[in-house]
Parts: sequence; C-alpha cells; structure tokens
Amino acid sequence: MSNIVVQKFGGTSVGSEERIAAVAKIIKKASEKDSLVVVVSAMSGETNRLINLANSFGENPSKREFDALISTGEKVSAALLAMALHQIGVEAKSYTASQISMRTTDSYSKAKILDVDGKKIEETLDAGIVPIITGFQGITDSGDVTTLGRGGSDTTAVAIAAQMKAKRCDIFTDVDGIYTTDPRIVPEAKKLDSITMEEMLEMSGQGAKVIQIRAVEFANKYKVPVRVLSSFESGNGTLITLEDNNMENGLVSGIAFQKNQIKFTLHGVSDTPGMAYGILGPLSDANIEVDVIVQNVSVNGKTDFTFTVSKEDEAIATDVINTVKESLEFDDLLIDSNIAKVSLVGVGMRTHAGIASTAFKALSEKGVNIQMISTSEIKITIVINENNVDNAVKALHTAFKLEE
Ligand code: ADP
Ligand code: ASP
Ligand code: MG
Repeated sequence: MSNIVVQKFGGTSVGSEERIAAVAKIIKKASEKDSLVVVVSAMSGETNRLINLANSFGENPSKREFDALISTGEKVSAALLAMALHQIGVEAKSYTASQISMRTTDSYSKAKILDVDGKKIEETLDAGIVPIITGFQGITDSGDVTTLGRGGSDTTAVAIAAQMKAKRCDIFTDVDGIYTTDPRIVPEAKKLDSITMEEMLEMSGQGAKVIQIRAVEFANKYKVPVRVLSSFESGNGTLITLEDNNMENGLVSGIAFQKNQIKFTLHGVSDTPGMAYGILGPLSDANIEVDVIVQNVSVNGKTDFTFTVSKEDEAIATDVINTVKESLEFDDLLIDSNIAKVSLVGVGMRTHAGIASTAFKALSEKGVNIQMISTSEIKITIVINENNVDNAVKALHTAFKLEE
C-alpha cells in the first residue's frame, strides 16, 4: 500500500496567518510519518468576498471571468502555506490546477473533474518536497480556469487521493468530525466515530456541508478511505467506511437539511406520455439538478407536477420552464422560494418499519406542515417551510434519540 496521505485544510483552518502557521505544524508532524500531498481552500470569507466583488459589475457577470476571479483565493492560501512551511524547515511548493493539469468539464462554477496528471505531484514527492495544491478549481481543455462549486476543495482532495492511490484522505475542518446533524443547529448533536459511505452520500447529497457530495462520490467510486477531523484540536475524527454495515448506529444515523431551495409547481399540465421528460429533460440539459419530484393523481386528464431545485438555479430554471410552456401546455406556474428540505438518513431504515410515522408524529407535535415527502431505501426527505427548519431538525433529533 502506498504511504501517501492527502490532507485538505478548509477555509477556517487557514483563515489567518496564525492558523496557517498552526496548519504548517500539523503538516510538519504528519510528514515525518507519511508522504503528504496537501490541498487548501481559500482563507475563510475570501470566496464570499470575491463573489460580492464580481456582483458589483452587474447581476450576470461573464461565467469565465467569474471563475477566473473566485479561484484566486486558493492561490493565496497555497502560496502562504508553502512559505509558512519553509519558515519551519519543511520543503514545500504550491501548485495551481493548471500546473498539475487538473482537467475539468467546461461548465463554469459547477465543473466536474475529468482527470489529473499525477506526474508533477509524484516528482515533487520524490524530491522530498510537500506539494500544496489549490483546491476548488480546474482547467478546461482550452486552458480556462473553472471552479467546482462551493465546498469544492473537498473534491479536489479526494480526486487527488484517488489518482495517487493514497492510503487515506484527511479532511481537516473546524469541527472534530461528522455529527448526527450540524452541531451549530443542534448543540446536543453527537460525533460519530464512523459513518458508511452510503450514508454519507445521502447526508452530503441532502445538504450536510461538512464534506461536498462530489468528494464522497469520488471516494465511493475509487474506494478512497476518508476521515473528517479538526485542525484546531487533536482527535481521530470520523472515518467514512467503505463497508456497508454500521454497527455503531441505530435506525437513523443522521439528519441533513438544505435551505435555499425552491419549489416549482406546474399546475394543470396534461397527463400524457412524455410530460415528465418534456419538463425535466430541458432542465437537465441546462445542467440543473432536480431533487424531490411529485406528480399528483390526474383529474380530467390534467395533473400537477412539482419539483425542487436549488435557489441559485431559480433564474435559469424559470427561463427553461417558460420556454417549455410553448410546447407543453399548463395552466399556471407556481414558485415557492421559502422552502427547505430535511432528510433522515440511516442504513438501519432498510430493516425497520415505522420510522416515517415517528418522524411525522414529531413534526406534527411541533406544528410543522409537511409539503412533500420522498423516500429511498435509506433516506426520508420532507419539504417544509424554510422558517421551520431549525425546529424540525431539533424535534427529529430528539425523536430518534440521536443525542444519546
Ligand atoms: P471547511 O471550510 O473546513 O470546508 P465547512 O464550513 O465547509 O468547512 O464545513 C464544516 C461545517 O459543516 C461545520 O462547521 C458544520 O457547521 C457543518 N456541518 C453540517 N452538517 C454537519 C454534520 N453532520 N457534522 C459536522 N458538521 C456539519
Ligand atoms: N473556497 C471555496 C468555497 O468557499 C471552496 C472550499 O472552501 O472548499 O466554497
Ligand atoms: Mg467545506
């Protein structure tokens, strides 16, 4: 087995000169044992600052220039971290996405990693130098800079770990592991020692931003062991296990939630073959991810078709639906931008009934109205009013005794 470990440090972990110096010490210590490849995010707040700057030149800046701009934060932290390492006697070199040929698709701000050339990284390791790589970005075949979506440095790290056949990818962040739910919303949330890849796919897919969904997908596809741990305190963190069984957890392992969602309802659409495809096909062509989808029983040949998308896709999705209206007749388009999704996740759901009713009871006792429900083998997702999210997550956390 290789002795390469990829370490990724998130924004808060490299959020100041002091933090960068602290991270350099973590790297120095770990480099005595393993061959390290490091991936960094921008200093905390920097990506938001750059996005705001871009928005001062109109609401729809050029996508190419937008990515060129918002990718710069990682360049700063990579170079600074290399300098901090030099200061404590560790040889290190920063690399941008183009220097290591991190090739992506050309869908700006949502680009997907195609491949990465491991040669430069390998040569650097062979020379006894720690490579520090900018997270969150790649280049297209024509050499333009792309970004991978918010939280994308996680994906950079796991993709590099897969390419280098690393023995592990360590995601260092500002919490000491993966919790039963976001500990900032439920302080009683419990840290998990491990979580299965399958559960983490659902947790991240449903909004647990502790690790980006694409990173978990890469880890699952290439069987990369991933650990989430704190850069602020020592500890073993949480291991995302490749095995399917999870002895530690009960029926529900965790609760994820996603705000900034939007619900589209096409009211009175004709219930004919090809209708769903007529709506969802063009959305998919526009690179918009659609999540919870519900079609009602039809009355007099007409039905309601409802689905959710992320709020950042609202403008494009609305355009697409209005274009669709030319070929697909419907009475009204209703848009609700005050919704959120809350999801219960656990492999235990496979073998146990009654989880949904426990959840619905807990929500009804808090007066939370459920607008949509969608289930899979190991997940129940409900769509509710955004104002109810914190209450709903707390109620469900208690109902399933996750703090115990
Ligand atoms: P980084 O900048 O290190 O990438 P992020 O802010 O992207 O950090 O992710 C860490 C945050 O994820 C935590 O501070 C926490 O608020 C949030 N989070 C959401 N769900 C969970 C969860 N289930 N377990 C731990 N943290 C979670
Ligand atoms: N800096 C980027 C962001 O804030 C990428 C990351 O932190 O992973 O989303
Ligand atoms: Mg993150």
